[in-house]
Amino acid sequence: MTTETIAAHFWRPRRFMVIVGHPDDADFGPAGTAAAWIAAGSEGRLVCCTSGDAGGEDPEMDPLDLARAREEEQRRAAEIVGYSGVSFLHQPDGNLVNDLALREMLVREIRTFRPDAVFCGDPEVIVHRGGGINHTDHRAAAMAAVDAVYPAARNPLAFPWLARNGLAAHKVRRIYMMWSNQPDVWIDVSATADRKIEALRAHASQLHDSEAAFARIRGRLAEQGASIGTAAAEAYRLVILDQDPDESPEAQEAVAADSEARPGGA
Ligand SMILES: [Zn+2]
Repeated sequence: MTTETIAAHFWRPRRFMVIVGHPDDADFGPAGTAAAWIAAGSEGRLVCCTSGDAGGEDPEMDPLDLARAREEEQRRAAEIVGYSGVSFLHQPDGNLVNDLALREMLVREIRTFRPDAVFCGDPEVIVHRGGGINHTDHRAAAMAAVDAVYPAARNPLAFPWLARNGLAAHKVRRIYMMWSNQPDVWIDVSATADRKIEALRAHASQLHDSEAAFARIRGRLAEQGASIGTAAAEAYRLVILDQDPDESPEAQEAVAADSEARPGGA
Protein backbone atom coordinates (compact mmCIF):
# COMPACT_ATOMS: atom_id res chain seq x y z
CA MET A 1 0.00 0.00 0.00
CA THR A 2 1.13 3.50 -0.77
CA THR A 3 1.31 5.91 2.15
CA GLU A 4 0.24 8.80 -0.06
CA THR A 5 -3.51 9.34 -0.36
CA ILE A 6 -5.04 10.23 -3.70
CA ALA A 7 -8.17 12.27 -4.35
CA ALA A 8 -11.54 10.58 -3.95
CA HIS A 9 -13.65 10.38 -7.09
CA PHE A 10 -16.55 12.86 -7.08
CA TRP A 11 -18.41 12.48 -10.35
CA ARG A 12 -21.99 11.29 -9.99
CA PRO A 13 -24.44 10.35 -12.76
CA ARG A 14 -28.10 11.24 -12.87
CA ARG A 15 -28.86 7.68 -13.89
CA PHE A 16 -26.75 4.55 -13.72
CA MET A 17 -27.19 0.88 -14.53
CA VAL A 18 -25.43 -2.10 -12.94
CA ILE A 19 -25.04 -5.10 -15.30
CA VAL A 20 -23.95 -8.38 -13.67
CA GLY A 21 -24.00 -12.12 -14.23
CA HIS A 22 -25.66 -13.35 -11.01
CA PRO A 23 -27.96 -12.23 -8.23
CA ASP A 24 -25.53 -11.09 -5.46
CA ASP A 25 -22.76 -9.87 -7.83
CA ALA A 26 -24.03 -6.30 -7.58
CA ASP A 27 -23.96 -6.47 -3.77
CA PHE A 28 -20.46 -7.96 -3.61
CA GLY A 29 -19.62 -5.35 -6.28
CA PRO A 30 -20.72 -1.70 -6.39
CA ALA A 31 -23.51 -1.70 -3.77
CA GLY A 32 -21.77 0.86 -1.55
CA THR A 33 -21.31 3.29 -4.42
CA ALA A 34 -24.82 2.61 -5.76
CA ALA A 35 -26.37 3.31 -2.35
CA ALA A 36 -24.28 6.48 -1.93
CA TRP A 37 -25.22 7.81 -5.36
CA ILE A 38 -28.91 6.97 -4.89
CA ALA A 39 -28.90 8.67 -1.48
CA ALA A 40 -27.42 11.75 -3.17
CA GLY A 41 -30.19 11.84 -5.82
CA SER A 42 -29.15 9.49 -8.64
CA GLU A 43 -31.49 6.82 -10.00
CA GLY A 44 -30.09 3.29 -10.36
CA ARG A 45 -31.30 0.15 -12.10
CA LEU A 46 -29.92 -3.37 -11.77
CA VAL A 47 -29.74 -5.95 -14.57
CA CYS A 48 -28.93 -9.60 -13.73
CA CYS A 49 -28.17 -11.71 -16.80
CA THR A 50 -28.86 -14.99 -14.98
CA SER A 51 -30.97 -15.83 -11.95
CA GLY A 52 -28.23 -17.87 -10.30
CA ASP A 53 -29.91 -21.24 -10.89
CA ALA A 54 -26.57 -23.09 -10.56
CA GLY A 55 -25.56 -21.42 -7.30
CA GLY A 56 -26.06 -24.36 -4.95
CA GLU A 57 -24.36 -27.46 -3.55
CA ASP A 58 -27.37 -29.81 -3.48
CA PRO A 59 -27.65 -31.89 -6.69
CA GLU A 60 -31.32 -32.60 -5.87
CA MET A 61 -32.17 -28.89 -5.84
CA ASP A 62 -34.59 -27.85 -8.60
CA PRO A 63 -32.77 -25.07 -10.52
CA LEU A 64 -36.07 -23.26 -11.11
CA ASP A 65 -36.80 -23.18 -7.36
CA LEU A 66 -33.31 -21.85 -6.73
CA ALA A 67 -33.71 -19.19 -9.44
CA ARG A 68 -37.00 -18.06 -7.91
CA ALA A 69 -35.47 -17.85 -4.42
CA ARG A 70 -32.44 -15.96 -5.67
CA GLU A 71 -34.54 -13.44 -7.60
CA GLU A 72 -36.46 -12.76 -4.39
CA GLU A 73 -33.21 -12.33 -2.48
CA GLN A 74 -31.87 -9.95 -5.10
CA ARG A 75 -35.10 -7.91 -5.13
CA ARG A 76 -34.86 -7.54 -1.35
CA ALA A 77 -31.19 -6.52 -1.57
CA ALA A 78 -32.04 -4.06 -4.37
CA GLU A 79 -34.63 -2.42 -2.13
CA ILE A 80 -32.01 -2.04 0.60
CA VAL A 81 -29.60 -0.36 -1.83
CA GLY A 82 -32.42 1.74 -3.29
CA TYR A 83 -32.52 0.74 -6.96
CA SER A 84 -35.67 1.84 -8.77
CA GLY A 85 -35.94 -1.53 -10.51
CA VAL A 86 -34.34 -4.89 -11.33
CA SER A 87 -34.38 -6.79 -14.63
CA PHE A 88 -33.65 -10.52 -14.85
CA LEU A 89 -32.69 -11.68 -18.34
CA HIS A 90 -33.09 -15.37 -17.37
CA GLN A 91 -29.99 -16.60 -19.14
CA PRO A 92 -28.57 -19.95 -17.93
CA ASP A 93 -26.25 -19.74 -14.92
CA GLY A 94 -22.80 -21.14 -15.74
CA ASN A 95 -23.52 -20.95 -19.47
CA LEU A 96 -23.72 -17.21 -20.07
CA VAL A 97 -22.41 -16.29 -23.51
CA ASN A 98 -21.72 -12.85 -24.94
CA ASP A 99 -23.72 -13.53 -28.08
CA LEU A 100 -25.87 -11.22 -30.20
CA ALA A 101 -29.04 -12.26 -28.34
CA LEU A 102 -27.60 -11.21 -24.95
CA ARG A 103 -26.16 -8.03 -26.41
CA GLU A 104 -29.53 -7.09 -27.91
CA MET A 105 -31.22 -7.66 -24.54
CA LEU A 106 -28.67 -5.37 -22.87
CA VAL A 107 -29.04 -2.72 -25.57
CA ARG A 108 -32.81 -2.79 -24.93
CA GLU A 109 -32.19 -2.30 -21.20
CA ILE A 110 -29.74 0.55 -21.81
CA ARG A 111 -31.89 2.34 -24.38
CA THR A 112 -34.97 2.02 -22.16
CA PHE A 113 -33.37 3.28 -18.93
CA ARG A 114 -30.84 5.61 -20.64
CA PRO A 115 -28.09 5.62 -17.98
CA ASP A 116 -25.18 8.07 -17.97
CA ALA A 117 -22.93 5.40 -16.46
CA VAL A 118 -22.83 1.60 -16.41
CA PHE A 119 -21.17 -0.60 -13.78
CA CYS A 120 -19.95 -4.00 -14.93
CA GLY A 121 -17.04 -6.36 -14.40
CA ASP A 122 -13.66 -5.96 -16.06
CA PRO A 123 -13.73 -8.36 -19.02
CA GLU A 124 -9.93 -8.44 -19.13
CA VAL A 125 -9.74 -10.21 -15.78
CA ILE A 126 -9.41 -14.00 -15.99
CA VAL A 127 -7.28 -14.38 -12.85
CA HIS A 128 -7.86 -11.92 -10.00
CA ARG A 129 -4.74 -10.18 -8.75
CA GLY A 130 -5.33 -11.53 -5.25
CA GLY A 131 -5.78 -15.04 -6.67
CA GLY A 132 -8.87 -16.89 -7.85
CA ILE A 133 -10.54 -17.26 -11.24
CA ASN A 134 -13.03 -14.69 -12.47
CA HIS A 135 -16.18 -16.81 -13.05
CA THR A 136 -17.00 -17.45 -16.71
CA ASP A 137 -20.42 -15.74 -16.28
CA HIS A 138 -18.73 -12.67 -14.77
CA ARG A 139 -16.45 -12.47 -17.79
CA ALA A 140 -19.28 -13.01 -20.28
CA ALA A 141 -21.55 -10.46 -18.55
CA ALA A 142 -18.72 -7.92 -18.46
CA MET A 143 -17.83 -8.40 -22.11
CA ALA A 144 -21.49 -8.25 -23.16
CA ALA A 145 -22.02 -5.07 -21.12
CA VAL A 146 -19.01 -3.36 -22.70
CA ASP A 147 -20.08 -4.42 -26.20
CA ALA A 148 -23.66 -3.29 -25.54
CA VAL A 149 -22.52 0.13 -24.28
CA TYR A 150 -20.05 0.62 -27.11
CA PRO A 151 -20.83 0.68 -29.91
CA ALA A 152 -24.26 -1.00 -30.01
CA ALA A 153 -26.40 1.18 -27.69
CA ARG A 154 -25.23 4.40 -29.33
CA ASN A 155 -25.44 3.17 -32.91
CA PRO A 156 -28.98 3.41 -34.36
CA LEU A 157 -28.01 0.89 -37.04
CA ALA A 158 -27.03 -1.74 -34.47
CA PHE A 159 -30.16 -3.94 -34.10
CA PRO A 160 -31.94 -1.35 -36.31
CA TRP A 161 -35.39 -2.70 -35.46
CA LEU A 162 -34.94 -1.29 -31.95
CA ALA A 163 -34.54 2.33 -33.08
CA ARG A 164 -37.29 1.90 -35.68
CA ASN A 165 -39.60 0.80 -32.86
CA GLY A 166 -38.92 3.69 -30.52
CA LEU A 167 -35.75 2.65 -28.64
CA ALA A 168 -33.52 5.47 -29.85
CA ALA A 169 -29.74 5.17 -29.72
CA HIS A 170 -28.27 6.23 -26.37
CA LYS A 171 -24.76 7.25 -25.32
CA VAL A 172 -23.56 5.83 -22.01
CA ARG A 173 -20.74 8.21 -21.12
CA ARG A 174 -18.80 6.16 -18.58
CA ILE A 175 -18.16 2.57 -17.59
CA TYR A 176 -17.08 1.73 -14.03
CA MET A 177 -15.49 -1.72 -13.96
CA MET A 178 -15.64 -3.53 -10.62
CA TRP A 179 -13.27 -6.30 -9.47
CA SER A 180 -10.60 -4.95 -11.80
CA ASN A 181 -6.90 -5.72 -11.55
CA GLN A 182 -6.17 -2.13 -12.54
CA PRO A 183 -8.46 0.18 -10.53
CA ASP A 184 -7.88 3.90 -11.05
CA VAL A 185 -10.72 5.58 -9.11
CA TRP A 186 -11.76 5.16 -5.49
CA ILE A 187 -15.24 6.21 -4.29
CA ASP A 188 -15.94 6.97 -0.63
CA VAL A 189 -18.55 4.53 0.73
CA SER A 190 -18.02 5.23 4.44
CA ALA A 191 -21.68 6.20 4.83
CA THR A 192 -23.06 3.17 2.98
CA ALA A 193 -20.72 0.28 3.90
CA ASP A 194 -23.27 -0.98 6.46
CA ARG A 195 -25.99 -0.87 3.81
CA LYS A 196 -23.82 -2.98 1.49
CA ILE A 197 -23.44 -5.62 4.23
CA GLU A 198 -27.19 -5.48 4.88
CA ALA A 199 -27.84 -6.04 1.16
CA LEU A 200 -25.43 -8.99 1.18
CA ARG A 201 -27.36 -10.48 4.12
CA ALA A 202 -30.43 -10.71 1.86
CA HIS A 203 -28.66 -13.43 -0.18
CA ALA A 204 -29.34 -16.07 2.46
CA SER A 205 -29.13 -19.01 0.02
CA GLN A 206 -25.53 -18.05 -0.78
CA LEU A 207 -24.30 -17.34 2.74
CA HIS A 208 -22.41 -20.00 4.63
CA ASP A 209 -19.82 -18.49 6.97
CA SER A 210 -21.30 -15.06 6.46
CA GLU A 211 -19.75 -13.21 9.40
CA ALA A 212 -16.25 -14.20 8.28
CA ALA A 213 -17.11 -13.10 4.74
CA PHE A 214 -18.48 -9.77 5.93
CA ALA A 215 -15.34 -9.19 8.01
CA ARG A 216 -13.22 -9.81 4.91
CA ILE A 217 -15.38 -7.42 2.86
CA ARG A 218 -15.18 -4.72 5.53
CA GLY A 219 -11.41 -5.19 5.64
CA ARG A 220 -11.19 -4.75 1.88
CA LEU A 221 -13.39 -1.63 1.96
CA ALA A 222 -11.19 -0.17 4.71
CA GLU A 223 -8.01 -1.00 2.79
CA GLN A 224 -9.38 0.72 -0.31
CA GLY A 225 -10.57 3.64 1.83
CA ALA A 226 -7.02 4.14 3.09
CA SER A 227 -6.03 5.05 -0.49
CA ILE A 228 -8.22 8.17 -0.32
CA GLY A 229 -8.14 8.79 3.43
CA THR A 230 -11.69 7.59 4.19
CA ALA A 231 -13.02 4.77 6.37
CA ALA A 232 -14.24 2.77 3.36
CA ALA A 233 -14.08 2.94 -0.44
CA GLU A 234 -14.91 0.90 -3.51
CA ALA A 235 -12.40 0.87 -6.36
CA TYR A 236 -13.08 0.82 -10.09
CA ARG A 237 -11.36 0.95 -13.43
CA LEU A 238 -13.00 3.93 -15.11
CA VAL A 239 -13.54 4.19 -18.86
CA ILE A 240 -14.69 7.62 -20.00
CA LEU A 241 -16.33 7.45 -23.43
CA ASP A 242 -17.62 11.02 -23.52
CA GLN A 243 -15.98 13.72 -21.43
CA ASP A 244 -18.16 16.25 -19.68
CA PRO A 245 -17.50 19.84 -20.84
CA ASP A 246 -15.99 20.48 -17.39
CA GLU A 247 -14.70 17.51 -15.39
CA SER A 248 -13.74 19.48 -12.26
CA PRO A 249 -15.27 18.48 -8.88
CA GLU A 250 -17.00 21.89 -8.68
CA ALA A 251 -18.69 21.32 -12.04
CA GLN A 252 -19.75 17.82 -10.94
CA GLU A 253 -21.37 19.23 -7.82
CA ALA A 254 -23.29 21.65 -10.03
CA VAL A 255 -24.43 18.81 -12.30
CA ALA A 256 -25.56 16.83 -9.24
CA ALA A 257 -27.48 19.82 -7.86
CA ASP A 258 -29.09 20.34 -11.26
CA SER A 259 -30.17 16.70 -11.47
CA GLU A 260 -31.84 16.98 -8.07
CA ALA A 261 -33.74 20.04 -9.29
CA ARG A 262 -35.02 18.05 -12.29
CA PRO A 263 -35.52 14.46 -11.15
CA GLY A 264 -35.59 11.99 -13.99
CA GLY A 265 -34.28 14.65 -16.39
CA ALA A 266 -32.51 13.28 -19.46
ZN1 LIG B 1 -21.32 -14.18 -9.44
